[in-house]
Amino acid sequence: MSSRNQQLFERAQRHIPGGVNSPVRAFRSVGGTPLFFQKGAGSQVQDADGKWYTDYVGSWGPMILGHAHPEVIAAVQAAVVDGLSFGAPTEKEVEIADLLCELVPSMEMVRLVSSGTEATMSAIRLARGYTGRDILVKFEGCYHGHSDALLVKAGSGALTFGNPSSGGVPASTVATTLVLPYNDPQALAEAFKTHGDQIATVIVEPVVGNMNLIAPTAEFLKAMRELTAKHGAVLIFDEVMTGFRVGLKSAQGLFSITPDLSTFGKVVGGGMPLGAFGGKRKIMEKIAPLGPVYQAGTLSGNPIATAAGLATLKLIQAPGFYESLTAKTKSLCEGLVGAAKTHGVAFSAQNIGGMFGLYFAEQCPGTYDAVLHCDKEAFNRFFHAMLEAGHYFAPSAFEAGFVSAAHSEAEIAGTVAAADAYFASLK
Ligand SMILES: *Cc1c(COP(=O)(O)O)cnc(C)c1O
Repeated sequence: MSSRNQQLFERAQRHIPGGVNSPVRAFRSVGGTPLFFQKGAGSQVQDADGKWYTDYVGSWGPMILGHAHPEVIAAVQAAVVDGLSFGAPTEKEVEIADLLCELVPSMEMVRLVSSGTEATMSAIRLARGYTGRDILVKFEGCYHGHSDALLVKAGSGALTFGNPSSGGVPASTVATTLVLPYNDPQALAEAFKTHGDQIATVIVEPVVGNMNLIAPTAEFLKAMRELTAKHGAVLIFDEVMTGFRVGLKSAQGLFSITPDLSTFGKVVGGGMPLGAFGGKRKIMEKIAPLGPVYQAGTLSGNPIATAAGLATLKLIQAPGFYESLTAKTKSLCEGLVGAAKTHGVAFSAQNIGGMFGLYFAEQCPGTYDAVLHCDKEAFNRFFHAMLEAGHYFAPSAFEAGFVSAAHSEAEIAGTVAAADAYFASLK
């Protein structure tokens, strides 16, 4: 009677902490047994019991073309037979660097790494090395990977330095990190007033996707660009999630703000471990071997990862790609909101390009505090009802969702119909 998912999860817990290799996969937030996937095809994923789901997680963002896209798989297959890694430069790295700098005009130079975490961690070191300053400003609720300096929560006062948000992070490591509220230009102005000549960098998710989805206000982005420029601090847009997800020009193109450095991951590798950081030439030239800021990686620019990345970046440039992706994601959000309204459920949703947020609240939240006030229990019940009906949403009320180019309007209508039936059952 026990399902294969359950059997695998029990077995996994023997030798893998919590049975998972990344904590949110464990379903702790929503409860229940995590699904083990064995296969994906387009918008669909299949679990270890053979059940298929319409996937709104997409590996947390990378699978913008859907699973097992034939052209991406062919590129990987072609690359694999020539060898897996050389630890020496290859032509594909040059090709993807050229393409990234062409697609993201704020990047004059770019370096490849193997994850989003490495990209942000390296960009911060570079910003500190370039400015010769120590203070890092980040915003509450933004996630920039799991390096020590970024696992920090706000201090007790608005302008006091942060405390570690993870065991194992020395207080000294985050003693130079200031955590400020998102979408609060005043707080940022205050921070620059007090510490302006010591702030090395401000790092931000230009659309937050790691506390559900939060859209930035124009004033917030504008203040950030002006204040960093005025005080000689480096503005880092962490586009690991938003890069090639909210549009071909990423969030910086969408909002017409030019950061000094940008970080990428997720979509850029098309499902393979690939990240990148880049920006102004005069900053990037501080990296080894040109400059004093050390950064390296045995598998950086891996030939299989660059093959998958190049194939993905080629396909997303098709005319109308983002118009169609955005329209489908919007259909999902509007459909769900319509269904909830019909049945009197307090619910809202919004999308920016191919990413979306669902909230059990009357209005889309604009701050971290507002996200915390959404009805998490209502989300958890929705999550399980939808899962049962074959629709896989992120297993946490604090994550954004993703639609791929492989999702059809009919599949999205099916998801909306399932939600409608669930909302109706609540009466
Ligand atoms: C996912 C994510 C990261 C971390 O990337 P990994 O590849 O998981 O290390 C960093 N920043 C943002 C905005 C992300 O969404």
